[in-house]
Amino acid sequence: MSDAPEPAAISARRLRTRTALRTALDRYGALSRAELGRRTGLSRSAVSSAVADLLAEGSVDEQPVPAVGRGRPTSVVTLRRDTGLLLALDLGHTHITAAVGTAQGEVHGEATAHLDIDDHPQQALDTAADLAREAIRQAGCDAARISAAAAGIPAAMDLRTKAVRAPTVLAKWIGLDPAAELGRRLGLPVVVGNDAEMGARGERAHGAGRGINDLVYVKASHGIGSGLVLAGRVYRGASGLSGEIGHIQLPGAPNWCRCGNRGCLETVVSIAEVRRQLAHVLATGTQNAPGTSLPPLAELGTRPATARVITDAGRTLGRVLADLVNCLNPGAIIIGGELGQGGAPLVAGVRESIDRYAQPAVADAVEVRVSALGVRAELHGALVAAAESRVTPADFG
Ligand SMILES: [Zn+2]
Repeated sequence: MSDAPEPAAISARRLRTRTALRTALDRYGALSRAELGRRTGLSRSAVSSAVADLLAEGSVDEQPVPAVGRGRPTSVVTLRRDTGLLLALDLGHTHITAAVGTAQGEVHGEATAHLDIDDHPQQALDTAADLAREAIRQAGCDAARISAAAAGIPAAMDLRTKAVRAPTVLAKWIGLDPAAELGRRLGLPVVVGNDAEMGARGERAHGAGRGINDLVYVKASHGIGSGLVLAGRVYRGASGLSGEIGHIQLPGAPNWCRCGNRGCLETVVSIAEVRRQLAHVLATGTQNAPGTSLPPLAELGTRPATARVITDAGRTLGRVLADLVNCLNPGAIIIGGELGQGGAPLVAGVRESIDRYAQPAVADAVEVRVSALGVRAELHGALVAAAESRVTPADFG
């Protein structure tokens, strides 16, 4: 009797080996076969046969590199990032955008609708699917050419169940599995993550976080959340619910929050609250919905009186971020979302609080920036997430 494994077992092991190689290449970039062996702990022959498999399926390249000094010439293996056309969905509390593009940030087709997604999940998911089809049509391609899809949603996602899990945000979405719902509507697998996580991916790939392995991306809009990249990887926490900084309590803040606590960060610096303060300073009156008649935040940041309000919001946000800086020692904090449009006065306020409240050694190590992609960071991040779901599927459960 032969002790050779069953064919199914061989293929499962080979798949695991390929995934290990992809993950190492994703993390470390270009690696020789010997380095791949060291990084993954796999034998030379296992690396060799997995590289052959990956070359055959076209998901890696292997190129010679010139010898350095008296060293021998070698060759390095790199992931082929060309993952074809991708579909990205960005769901916010008041909008949904779908885009067809590439992980390199090119967008070939895009469609947006404005609607209240919080109270009408099924309608929002139907709209998302319609917008996806419209973006595909605008890109002039066939749905069959979409190789992967990802969506960011403005709610905490429990990685263990893949369901929405935050009783105070998107209450009517609780228990829904948006990945399955979208996948069923679109007829292709969709990975779903929190919107701030998508923003972090977008800024790290194409924006203010390029080349930074430890960063905190803050999505500051109607709610306030953060996406964490630690040691070069998106950090989601034990059950996928990391980064909920909007409900950290501020000393002395009196207002009730939608979560049932008093004095949460987002009761003071949500975009709606900051707009209310700006409207008061501008004395624009309240005959319209609060804030709707305000000039853009970027413009208000250039006027002395309103710039003070924006800087003050930055100081408050910075008070909470200073504690995060003490905990995580990030290289950059990137402020996105609508409040991120506040620009230099906002950064000045955040910086002031970090310098005041974080330990000097960690405060010195962190740069504070506003998002380079603006309110499109989440959309671009979803394109990146879609590409990564093909390259390193293990990261997406
Ligand atoms: Zn709260």
